[in-house]
Amino acid sequence: MTAQRIDGKAAAEALIGRVTDDVARLIRDHGVQPGLAVVLVGDDPASTVYVRSKIKRTAAAGMRSFDHRLPGDVSEDDLLAIIARLNADPQVNGILVQLPLPKHISADRVINAIDPGKDVDGLHPVNAGRLSAGTAKLVPCTPRGCVILAKGVRGTLAGLDAVVVGRSAIVGKPLAQLLLAEDATVTIAHSKTKDLADVCRRADLLFAAVGRPEMVRGDWVKPGATVVDVGINRLALPDGKSRLIGDVAYAEAEKVAGAITPVPGGVGPMTIACLLLNTLIAARARAGLPEPM
Ligand code: NDP
Repeated sequence: MTAQRIDGKAAAEALIGRVTDDVARLIRDHGVQPGLAVVLVGDDPASTVYVRSKIKRTAAAGMRSFDHRLPGDVSEDDLLAIIARLNADPQVNGILVQLPLPKHISADRVINAIDPGKDVDGLHPVNAGRLSAGTAKLVPCTPRGCVILAKGVRGTLAGLDAVVVGRSAIVGKPLAQLLLAEDATVTIAHSKTKDLADVCRRADLLFAAVGRPEMVRGDWVKPGATVVDVGINRLALPDGKSRLIGDVAYAEAEKVAGAITPVPGGVGPMTIACLLLNTLIAARARAGLPEPM
């Protein structure tokens, strides 16, 4: 039997629809219009595409969008000065600095400079700490999206064996924390993990966030498992074009899994939807209102 294809686009549209409705209510009932500032340094083509799409979706959801495009040779001090201005601006509820940054700028220093209450990427150490303390409001967007997709398939994740391959601060680690908060039993695997295929085969929920095209093979998947592929790898084609592939060998895995996300059209769209959700959460918190939905 072929696995259910998890439609990340549809899930993202549904979430954006709920966020858009809540933004309209927030404006109508409280006079608060959430605002998101996106800062892009340089002209990396992939980052430019992501930023354009974030700005478009922000405005479409009824939020204010602030677009800061800086040259690739902007100094760290100048970038920090812009962050300070955005921190102080009451119209800005969320600040997203598109990563990666050029080598002459310390991403750590920039992230640490963002007001934790406006850190819609959930990367500030205060928010990372709150996540592990179980008191987080702003959590990284991609992991939040992964958990929403998995819950959409399984309902509850309680008691399920989850394996997260990858331990980055932006995906793997926060994802593991969120799964733990959902009462899954969580294993985090990485490049030094022994017998990775065996570890993956134990997973009811398998998350791949590695950045290696099709590394997770079909025979690494437990029959019936839910597979969430975070990987975005650009594969050059002989005709000069390129296509995106995930960290999971989809054609093999769909024969074994119960449900699986495609690439593209799986986790990717959820990341932007969760960015809008985080901006709404930040705006409501700033206005002293409870979390939406
Ligand atoms: P990083 O490069 O920061 O982390 C990769 C992780 O994979 C590391 O923990 C690394 O282990 C682990 N790893 C590398 N090789 C192996 C291996 N052979 N076996 C087991 N583990 C391995 O990547 P990110 O977490 O930032 O991103 C992961 C993927 O997700 C990328 O393809 C990225 O493009 C994609 N992505 C997609 C997003 C979306 O919106 N869909 C958003 C963010 C990322 P170690 O720590 O030991 O080095």
